[in-house]
Amino acid sequence: MTDAGRPEVTAYVGLGANLGDAAHALRSALHALDHTTGVRLCKASSLYRTAPLDASGPNYLNAVAEVATTLTAPALLSVLQSLENEAGRERPYRNAPRTLDLDLLLYGSARIDSARLIVPHPRMNERAFVLVPLSEIAPGQVQCDMLTRVQTQVIERLDTT
Ligand code: AMP
Repeated sequence: MTDAGRPEVTAYVGLGANLGDAAHALRSALHALDHTTGVRLCKASSLYRTAPLDASGPNYLNAVAEVATTLTAPALLSVLQSLENEAGRERPYRNAPRTLDLDLLLYGSARIDSARLIVPHPRMNERAFVLVPLSEIAPGQVQCDMLTRVQTQVIERLDTT
């Protein structure tokens, strides 16, 4: 759903979950994003199963979504954080298992470095669970050598969407 006024910007959102019904959490987040004023879901990648990186706990499910948005980047981040909170996200310690994690990966060609928001996401190029689903829906955003650098990380594409 988008509103008139500001031009739409193409942005990419990384989704992850490894507690509870992770597939349900990711699908619900995609649905909620598409029903947020100022956000239109354009593409969603397959779901991927990945081992936790720099963390413990169960395997993750991950995906990447392409959205067209009339929201500013900070406003879009606020939407993502609200959805995390609605999904019961708690932060007992860094990299703790999570019911839902939403990261703003890219916002058009913007480069943002504020206290609250860094775009492109500072760790996206180190993570197969971002680069592999991103390359599925937006191959132009991911160069081959970027994928080569993360090829030792285990990631499995699931049949379901
Ligand atoms: P996390 O606990 O991994 O969800 O990290 C969330 C924190 O990272 C919040 O304090 C955000 O303000 C901050 N942050 C900075 N840049 C980003 C980004 N591109 N996407 C999501 N969170 C970000």
